[in-house]
Amino acid sequence: MVIVGAGPAGLLLSHLLALAEIESTVLECRSRDQIETTVRAGILEADTVRLLTETGASTRVLRDGARHDGIELRFNGEGHRVDFMGLTGHGVWLYPQHEVLKDLLSTRLEQGQDIRFGVTVTAVHDGDRPQVRATDTDGSELRLECDFVVGADGSHSAVRKAVTGSATSGHFREYPFAWFGILCEAPPSAAELIYSNSEHGFALISQRSPTVQRMYLQCDPELDPEAMSDDLVWEELQRRVAPHPLSTGPIFQRDVLRFRSFVASSLHRGHVALVGDAAHTVPPTGAKGMNLAVADVLVLARALRALLLDGNATAINRYEQDVLPRIWKAQHFSWWMTQMLHRTPDASEFDRLRQHGELSSVVESEAGRRYLAEAYTGWPRPTDEALAVV
Ligand SMILES: Cc1cc2nc3c(=O)[nH]c(=O)nc-3n(C[C@H](O)[C@H](O)[C@H](O)COP(=O)(O)OP(=O)(O)OC[C@H]3O[C@@H](n4cnc5c(N)ncnc54)[C@H](O)[C@@H]3O)c2cc1C
Repeated sequence: MVIVGAGPAGLLLSHLLALAEIESTVLECRSRDQIETTVRAGILEADTVRLLTETGASTRVLRDGARHDGIELRFNGEGHRVDFMGLTGHGVWLYPQHEVLKDLLSTRLEQGQDIRFGVTVTAVHDGDRPQVRATDTDGSELRLECDFVVGADGSHSAVRKAVTGSATSGHFREYPFAWFGILCEAPPSAAELIYSNSEHGFALISQRSPTVQRMYLQCDPELDPEAMSDDLVWEELQRRVAPHPLSTGPIFQRDVLRFRSFVASSLHRGHVALVGDAAHTVPPTGAKGMNLAVADVLVLARALRALLLDGNATAINRYEQDVLPRIWKAQHFSWWMTQMLHRTPDASEFDRLRQHGELSSVVESEAGRRYLAEAYTGWPRPTDEALAVV
């Protein structure tokens, strides 16, 4: 097995395959240090946490992560709590993606996993024995032959072409705004995440630890992250969540994240399959990307086990069919949260008031709150998928 990409999808897949005694080589273009310091996702579904802990991939999440039993939706200057625990019986976990990756990397490396950092895959050719071409850090060319290749190489996947015939073939939507994300040294401004729709644009108040916080402002996709002073960032965040008071402090990291929705036109062909962001991308508003990657991996690990250990191709031939319903539900939820909370550059007064109508319909109805809570905390995963792998 060759797995391209040491993100959450690739590393978790190598972990589940190792539990089934299937050897894999992971090829990763970045260094270990870069992987462990890139800040991305923060919210894990309870089922993701259960999988990480029950398979021995991470127990730190239970010690260092924080369970959140709800979120606040703010609009028109008022906050409305959506009580996940009361509505679904479970919460979500705030535990940064790079901490998940530190845990997965140390578990895999301790167990002797072959992970080659600094190796960039350039092409994959399918066949009875698929071939992977890559370049090493020193520019030398590598060729690997294997039984199966998995593209877990993120949204700019180099493996995708071997499955779909082109790097971009699929269903795509780009949004006319982005998120300007900051990390700052400050105490938490709230116990739970605040998703705020305001006439000045969207803001998300999130947490990291008692001393470090993560926050986002809706911005123009072309914004230079260094262009705004710290004071201006705080002023803009504050007016978007007013009158809720924010605790401020020095900003030590800034990034701009473009919003895209994408589903590749196919997810499996011959001896090559795609998982995670290589197969689909969602805007981050619903906190679904990494969780969706984990859900794909569970199904794919089971299918590869049947194929490589028992010679049974039924599950791999059904892989796409099995994962697509959840992918499209997550696409819808991520789009729905995005359009309900952000202000488009051409928004009229009608659009703003209609959004308030939509938000009121959600927070004032138990059915509305329950839909949001079920989607945010994650739809149930078929138990046989989990049992077959764990
Ligand atoms: C700001 C932000 C907030 C987010 N919040 C959440 C959240 O709260 N909850 C959630 O579930 N999701 C969230 N997401 C989404 C989540 O981060 C992604 O969905 C997740 O990283 C997907 O994992 P992956 O393993 O599929 O891909 P990636 O994490 O992108 O990993 C792909 C890996 O492949 C490597 N690679 C790429 N090309 C090659 C190549 N040619 N050769 C070798 N290696 C290659 C990359 O270096 C990378 O390490 C967020 C994303 C962002 C940016």
